[in-house]
Amino acid sequence: MDLPKIKMGVSSCLLGEKVRYDGQAKLDHYVRDTLGHYVEFVPVCPEFELGLGVPRETMRLVGDPENPRLVTTKTKVDLTERMLAWCGQRVSDLEGEGLCGFIFKSKSPSSGMERVKVYQASGMAVKKGRGLFAKAFMDRFPLLPVEEEGRLNDPAIRENFIEQVFTLQRWRDMLRNQGDAAGLVKFHSEHKYLLMAHSVSGYRELGRLVADLKGVKLAAAFVAYHEQMMKALRLQATVKKQVNVLQHMAGYFKRQLSADEKQELQEIIGQYHQGLVPLIVPITLINHYVRKYDEPYLASQFYLHPHPIELQLRNRV
Ligand code: SF4
Repeated sequence: MDLPKIKMGVSSCLLGEKVRYDGQAKLDHYVRDTLGHYVEFVPVCPEFELGLGVPRETMRLVGDPENPRLVTTKTKVDLTERMLAWCGQRVSDLEGEGLCGFIFKSKSPSSGMERVKVYQASGMAVKKGRGLFAKAFMDRFPLLPVEEEGRLNDPAIRENFIEQVFTLQRWRDMLRNQGDAAGLVKFHSEHKYLLMAHSVSGYRELGRLVADLKGVKLAAAFVAYHEQMMKALRLQATVKKQVNVLQHMAGYFKRQLSADEKQELQEIIGQYHQGLVPLIVPITLINHYVRKYDEPYLASQFYLHPHPIELQLRNRV
């Protein structure tokens, strides 16, 4: 199925653009070639766009890890004020892009999202900094999903990040297409098990918000729901939480499944629990029963199809 592409920011060098200090790129095939099928990237290279040229002298963060300076390594030119002014303008420009996330290049003093080296007067470095652009972006868009290319090699982190991105896109689609109380109730209902896989308490809090719309300004409820939803989705969906959701779903088939089918479903959920099969296995079996027994509530659940199956995100978690 051809879905409209999701807009996402990305560090330019990850797409293969030769904008690094040494005139090279840092192409990430997964980002460009796999995610690129579903994502329209908005590339950003802070150092190149600031006009520092390619190739250029390397730079580093120095001083206070909370408030570091950006300084060229050999000539010691302090670029902090120039870069911060540029960052302020660039993140303002990005506000109109409707981004659903950002993938940053790790370790960079401009683009690194976390654990960037900050050099001390002693010459030693502490890995406690953030690239100046990454920090400006995250401060301006605190609810947007963000990740680094290296961390995306971890299947659980990757799945969690992409799930946030697709859920945010569906949230925005709902606001665009049916931004009223009924739209919110439907959205919440269809994301019940997806939210529960991240946070049962988060799901319940969101449920209270949806149940209590009378006398509340709808715009304020949308803002609160969006904020709480993104915070809940950031919590990793662990195996234990997934098993809880799978068992809830299995409960829908109490009457329809034969004793043998019930046993098979329980065996497969157990195998997933023990790490013998990936999540896609019990999910596929439940999807099979949803179709076979025509279970409309579960069919509406995005937990069973949160992102395109071609991304194979549940094949390794
Ligand atoms: S890490 Fe950031 S600043 Fe460096 S080349 Fe890549 S996009 Fe540009």
